[in-house]
Amino acid sequence: MQTAYQNAMEQLRKASEIAELNKDVLLKLQSPDRFIQVSIPIRMDSGELKVFTGYRVQYDNTMGPYKGGIRFHSDTDLDEVKALSFWMTIKCSVVGIPLGGGKGGVTVDPKVLSESEIEKLSRGYVKKLKGIIGRDIDVPAPDVYTTPKIMAIMADEIGDKAAFTGKPIENGGSLGRDKATALGAFYVFEKAIEKLSLSKDSKIVIQGFGNAGAVFAKILFDAGYSIIAVSDSKGAIVSDNGLNIDEVLKFKENTGSVINFENTKTITNQELLELDCDVLALCALENQVTDNNANNIKAKIVFELANGPVTPEADLILKSKEILVLPDVLTNAGGVTVSYFEWLQNINNESWSLEEVNTKLKEIMYKSFDEIYDIAKTKDIDFRMAAFVSALKRIEAKMEI
Ligand code: GLU
Repeated sequence: MQTAYQNAMEQLRKASEIAELNKDVLLKLQSPDRFIQVSIPIRMDSGELKVFTGYRVQYDNTMGPYKGGIRFHSDTDLDEVKALSFWMTIKCSVVGIPLGGGKGGVTVDPKVLSESEIEKLSRGYVKKLKGIIGRDIDVPAPDVYTTPKIMAIMADEIGDKAAFTGKPIENGGSLGRDKATALGAFYVFEKAIEKLSLSKDSKIVIQGFGNAGAVFAKILFDAGYSIIAVSDSKGAIVSDNGLNIDEVLKFKENTGSVINFENTKTITNQELLELDCDVLALCALENQVTDNNANNIKAKIVFELANGPVTPEADLILKSKEILVLPDVLTNAGGVTVSYFEWLQNINNESWSLEEVNTKLKEIMYKSFDEIYDIAKTKDIDFRMAAFVSALKRIEAKMEI
C-alpha cells in the first residue's frame, strides 16, 4: 500500500491534469516549503527521562500563514504529517480562507501519559519550535488526541494567544470552535442530501467517536436522523433500530468506550465499514477504506470527516460502484474555518457571538459545496477532484513563481 503522502501526491498529479495547472505551480506543490523534526526530552512522573519525536511541516503559504493541527498519536511519522499538511493547503483554499497549509505531530500514545506529562510534552514541543511558529507565520490547532487545553498550554508557552487556535473560551478561544468540524460537515450533509434526495430514515454509520464523530452523531441525532452503528478505537456497535446517541455519549463517558452499550451487537471496525447503510461517515484516521475493502462498502455516500480515510485506489473502486465520496478537504473544513475566525478575533481583539460564528460558517460551507458541485457537474469529475481543482486554481492565481 502507498503511504499517505504518496496518496496525497497522486491526488495532486491527477487534479493538476484536470485543472491544466501551470507546471511550475505543480512542481512547487510537490514538496513542502520546510519540515522540522525535533526531539523532546521529558522527565516522566517515574523519574525516568524519555525522548519523544515531534514534527512540524510547513507545506505552502501562498494563501497566508501556514495553518493546521498538531496530533499526538503513536503512528504519527513525518510521511503522515507531510500528507496532512498538504491536505491543509488544499482545504484552506477550498473554503477560500487566507491561510496556507501546515501540520504537526508527536509520536506518542497520549492515553498512557499523566496530565503533567502531557503538559511537559506540549511545552517541550513548542519550546523547540519557537521562532518557527507564530500568529503571522504558522498557526497550529488541535488534531487527533490534542485538546483545547493543550492549545492553551502551547499558547501560554509561546506567550501569544493568536499563535494557536482551538483554545478554550477562557483562554481566547472562539465560541463554536469545539463543534465546528462536525457542524461544517453537517452543513455539507444537508446540501448533499438535498441534491441526492435522501430521507430522514436513511441509515447512517459513523466510524470514530472523538471530537468529529461523536459531535457529528449528536447533531444528526438531534436533527432526527437514524444512526445504526458507531465505533471507537476499542471496537464497534450496531443496532438496526438506531442508537440513542445521548445515551451512547453518557455510556462512553462512564465506561471509556461505546462497546457493550445496551441492546447492541459488538462488531469489528472492519465489519462496521462494510455494513449495509446509506451514509458512511469516516471520522477516525487515514487509510481506512483501501483497495482491500472498498469492494465491500455498501453505503451510497461516504463522508470524510477524518483526513485521508479513503485511498486513491479505493476512490476508483467506490466510483465504479457509483458511491459518492464527499471529500475531507470540503467535509471537515469547518474546523479550520472557525479556527480562522478565532485567529481574526484574537488579532482584532473581538469576540463574536455563537450565532455570528455559525452563520458565517454556514455561508462558507454552503458556498464551497455549491462551487465544488458545479465544477464536478461541469467537468464530469468526482467531488474530490472538483475540490482539488477549485483549490489549485486559487493557489495558482496567487502563487509567485
Ligand atoms: N486539525 C483540523 C484539521 O485537520 C483543524 C486545523 C485547524 O483548525 O487549523 O482540519
